[in-house]
This record gives sequence, structure tokens and C-alpha cells, in this order.
Amino acid sequence: MELFKKTAAELSDILAKKEISAVELIKDVFARTQAVEDKVKGYITVTQEAALQAADAVDKKRAAGEQLSALAGIPVAIKDNICTKGTLTTCASKMLYNFNPPYNATVIDKLLAQDVVVTGKANMDEFAMGSSCENSSVHPTHNPHNLGCVPGGSSGGSAAVVAAGETPLSLGSDTGGSIRQPAAFCGVVGLKPTYGAVSRYGLIAFASSLDQIGPFGRTIEDTAMLFDAITGHDPLHDSTSVQTLFEGRTRASLNPDVKGMKIGLPKEYFGEGISESVRKNVLAAAETYRAMGAEVFEISLPLSAYVLPIYYILSSAEASSNLARFDGVKYGYRSPNFAEDDLISLYVKSRSEGFGQEVQRRIMLGTYVLSSGFYDAYYKKARAAQRRIKAEFAAAFEKCDIILTPVAPTTAYEIGSKTTNPLEMYAGDICTVSLNIAGLPGLVQPCGFDTEKMPVGMQLIGPHFGEQKLLNAGLAFEQASGLKNIIAEL
Ligand code: GLN
Repeated sequence: MELFKKTAAELSDILAKKEISAVELIKDVFARTQAVEDKVKGYITVTQEAALQAADAVDKKRAAGEQLSALAGIPVAIKDNICTKGTLTTCASKMLYNFNPPYNATVIDKLLAQDVVVTGKANMDEFAMGSSCENSSVHPTHNPHNLGCVPGGSSGGSAAVVAAGETPLSLGSDTGGSIRQPAAFCGVVGLKPTYGAVSRYGLIAFASSLDQIGPFGRTIEDTAMLFDAITGHDPLHDSTSVQTLFEGRTRASLNPDVKGMKIGLPKEYFGEGISESVRKNVLAAAETYRAMGAEVFEISLPLSAYVLPIYYILSSAEASSNLARFDGVKYGYRSPNFAEDDLISLYVKSRSEGFGQEVQRRIMLGTYVLSSGFYDAYYKKARAAQRRIKAEFAAAFEKCDIILTPVAPTTAYEIGSKTTNPLEMYAGDICTVSLNIAGLPGLVQPCGFDTEKMPVGMQLIGPHFGEQKLLNAGLAFEQASGLKNIIAEL
């Protein structure tokens, strides 16, 4: 029946009508995984048996007449830095190769309470550091639209399995673009929520003040559906999470009316370094909005020139502190090569062997910017600059409702083409990191294809807790363009 081609909303509907069972659905989805996963390599762990059991339990509940959630029986893949009790959670790192969390992340508890069927743990750049999924210690993931290209990162596995039809939905995390850039590279929808809209409890921290968990889907409606399931205040476990007005209701409130909506195009995001195909497609999307009655105009965000150094200073500083807990004593990897009676050698060997190159680079960078001689010059300055970036966005949102930009300078590039030059890799984050610095929500969806038939994404940026506005505007474009539910041919 090719159920894997259907959207989560369609599947939810036919499950509710009992036209199919959750077991039939998950079997179809795993048959697709069986057929394409060797090429895509989007997963680190596939939890087939547990998924079949979970699906069977959903069918029994439905047969017993229980009132079930819209997501009951719907398959969802989980990025491997989100803790799942009893299921390996490795962060794609040798350091956590054997880590079986004793608890669930809040988002996982929420999904299980809504009878979601977890398909497995998706590949990523180690500890979410990277933009191409090539920093995974397990294997690189391939872009389903061209297996020679990267899927983006760090949530490359989560985006790729959705694009390949291996699941209709997945969760990723975004510290500087890790949901949005892979969504763009793989031609799917990804939402980076406002900081605080989703609990971070159980998300293995990269940079706590920037990290957010968010959904991937192939349509705006599906993405809203998964967002509704995970958002909310988590008073017990995450004091940075908050109650929001739209809580759990963005899907029901979707309204694709953009008449009179003010959309700003920041000129700094369309300048040098942005490829012609990206610029052309995003500007064409702006025209689509204009044709639908939105007011589209140029704005300026001059501080955009500073966002990359600010992001890499702040995120590395926090990472160096967060990753200090991996010391060979408490979790995961312990080197067999340390000198007896020498604790320091246990730390040094375990960390040198357990962490990959990029993670070690970030730890060193972060330690440096926090060290006593350089704290004022780098870390303190970056925090001050962060306040100015926030203020610049706040001023922009006085003039416009949302902001439209590219997601990345280019479409997906060839595997291996940027691995030797970390600075070039970092430069690819130029359009995404500002949102994390300012705590703003961002929605990415496909807006076209380049000459090689690779997907081009666009980014809609909203004010804090402006998720509904973004999803509404996203839906309007999706309807006008017909670009939705794109599944790669494999
Ligand atoms: N590519 C960025 C980095 O390497 C963002 C990663 C992320 O959002 N987790 O830091």
C-alpha cells in the first residue's frame, strides 16, 4: 500500500478510522527502511522489535475503544543525543558507545504518553558539533536526493530518514542550525522552536543556552503536529522551559492567510557567498508571498557580520564546560591505556581516545576563551554582543511580522569536500546561528531545486514564541508552491 509515502496527518486519519493498523504501518515503514537504509545510513540504532510491540499495544488500545491522541501509532525517529531509557544513546561518539540512559528525556515521555512508535536513533555529528553528519564516529549519512552528498548536520540522520520515507516524522536538536540546515539540504520541513518552548531535559547538552529540540516532517501540518506533542513547561526538570499561549494547539490553529503580513528580507543574508540558485529560489518565494498579498520589503541587520564568531565563542565555551563530565569515570568510554595510580592519565587518555577531532577542537577553543587571560577579550565580549544581536532583531520585529532568508549559502555539497577545512564548514552556518544567539524560532521548508535537482530551503524567522505565525506563513507557501511531502527516489 506504500504507507510510507503518506503524511503523518493522513496516517493518523486512516489509523483512527481503522482502515489500517499501527502494526501494518510500522511493518511497511520498516520494509522501506530495509530497502533504502544501506544507502542512506540515517540510523545508528533501529529499534524494530520494540516498535512492533509498541504498535501492537496501540492497536489493542484502539480496539478496546480508548480515546487516542492524533500521534498514536505514528512512527517517529529520534536523534541520538536525546535520552531514551534502555535504548543506546551515543551522541554518535565513541565516548558514549555503551550509554544506556536510565531515564527518558521529557520529550520522549511526552511522545510515549501519546502512543508514538519510536523507530530508532538517528545519526548525527558527534555531540551535535558539525554541519554535515561526517563527524559521526559511526558512519556518515548520505543525502537521499544524491547519495554522494551530505545530508547536512548535525541532525543529518533525522532529516535523511524523513526525506527517504523511512519515517514521516523525527526529532532533532538545534544549537546553531542543526535542524534547519539538514532540513534544507534534504528537502523536508524543520522547526527550531523559541528557546524555552520545549524542555531540554534529557537532551545531552552541547551549549545549554542555545540548544533546543525540534521536529522534522515532510509537511507543515505534520511538523506542527509533532511540535504540539513536545512543547510545554517542564517545571520539574527544565527551569528554562516556559508555558506558551499556543501550547499543543498550533496544528488546530493553522491558517494560511498572509494578506497584509509584513515580511522583511534582510539584505545581509542575500549578499556575497550566497549561491545563485539559493538566492534565486528564496527571492522567488518572496515574490510568491507578495502575490498572495503579503507586504515584502528589504530590511537591514548589520550585526549579521559578527554572528559566526559570537556563536563559535559562546557555543564552544559552554561545550567545554558541559563535556567536562565525560572523564572516563562516570560514563561511557574508559581508556584501557592509562597509567596505574595516575588519575590525570585516566582523564587524558579516555578523553583523547573517546572524543573525535572536532569535539576536541571545540573543547580547546572553549577552554581558551574562558581562560583567565582571555575571558574579557572573548567570552565577555561575545555575551555583550549577544545582547546587541537580540536588540537588533527586536527592532526588526517592530517593523515586520516575520523575516525571510536563505538557510545556508549553498545546497548539499559532496561528502568529503569540506572535512579538511573546519573554518569553511563553520562559514556554512552564517544564516542560522543568529536565531540561537537571540533565542528566536525558525522554520525551514523546501522552496525549490537547484540545477542539479538538489533541494533548496528557505528560512522564516519569527519573534519569540511566534511559532504559529511561522507555521501559518509556511503553510501558505506550501499550498501556493505545492512543495510538500517530497520523498527522495532511491
Ligand atoms: N553547525 C553548527 C556547529 O557545528 C551547529 C550545530 C548544531 O546546531 N548543533 O556548531
